[in-house]
Amino acid sequence: MTPMRLSVVVPCYNEEMVIESFDAKTRALLDSLPVDYEICYVDDGSSDRTLDLLRALAKKNPAGLRYTSFSRNFGKEAAMLAGLREATGDAVVIMDADLQHPPELIGRMLELHAVGHDQVIARRDRSGESRLRKALGKAYYRMVNRWVDVELVDGVGDFRLLSRRAVNALLSMPEQNRFSKGLFSWIGFDTVTFDYTNVAREAGETKWRFGALVNYGVDGLISFNNRPLRVAIHLGLLLAGLATLYAAWTVVSTLAFGVRTPGYATLLAAIVGMGGAQMVMLGLVGEYIGRIYYETKRRPHFLVKETNASGADSASPIR
Ligand code: UDP
Ligand code: MG
Repeated sequence: MTPMRLSVVVPCYNEEMVIESFDAKTRALLDSLPVDYEICYVDDGSSDRTLDLLRALAKKNPAGLRYTSFSRNFGKEAAMLAGLREATGDAVVIMDADLQHPPELIGRMLELHAVGHDQVIARRDRSGESRLRKALGKAYYRMVNRWVDVELVDGVGDFRLLSRRAVNALLSMPEQNRFSKGLFSWIGFDTVTFDYTNVAREAGETKWRFGALVNYGVDGLISFNNRPLRVAIHLGLLLAGLATLYAAWTVVSTLAFGVRTPGYATLLAAIVGMGGAQMVMLGLVGEYIGRIYYETKRRPHFLVKETNASGADSASPIR
């Protein structure tokens, strides 16, 4: 029986501090497993020596290493997509370059894949994170899961094994705005999760700033449903109902007690309140329209500057 072929997809953005030790450790681990493997690095427009290091690594291992380099930073989602397109294996493992995803877990993933699971997810706990970050994370997932149509789980990231048919399912989704956590969940298939202890980045620093996390959170809320738009309808009905009641009460009290002039405060509060609600809802509608705008442009998800993959024209985007 020929061994199964495994592809490891690694998005890298300014990872010169860790890429070599990542490659050495992962390769040593993969050598000990009964698989044929390739590692598909995607350099996401790094401004440091990441690409040079990848070229050097490719020279050392001409067979088992592919790399693709973007013309600029397109983001981790685009880098993962490029890696998945590049991967040829029967199964694919997606990993971060910073060794926060311990390569030792690949063996466990393969075992679970062998018994028939299409998605094997390694879920990290939040040990080593600040208490505020933990609480924010928990609150966010509680809220999002009440709203979103796909299930998002805390601690579940991109570190997972995907079977070939799961990869093909992901590649069949053409959307521009890729929220992988949701896409993984949306495709379904037989999924299993196991836990591991969070590890700190080996070197270099995280690319996530707080603002980026907030944007990511909004993506999670909006990418997979249009329920926020429903909120506009509910709120509108509620306000219209209240206004009708108030108008009726005004008519009755005018008939009973005659015209009374005071009421500026009520009026002002109502106007400002309504204005605020309308702004929020307009912003929400705008957010969806913005997404439609980007989807309709049908631009490629990324542009490739350089690759060592055979058969690919390095000057044109892989689509
Ligand atoms: N990454 C990427 N493009 C980006 C940002 C990050 O390819 O624009 C890669 C990065 O090189 C790493 C992985 O995505 O391999 C996770 O990034 P990071 O460690 O900064 O995120 P964290 O672990 O803090 O969530
Ligand atoms: Mg990291």
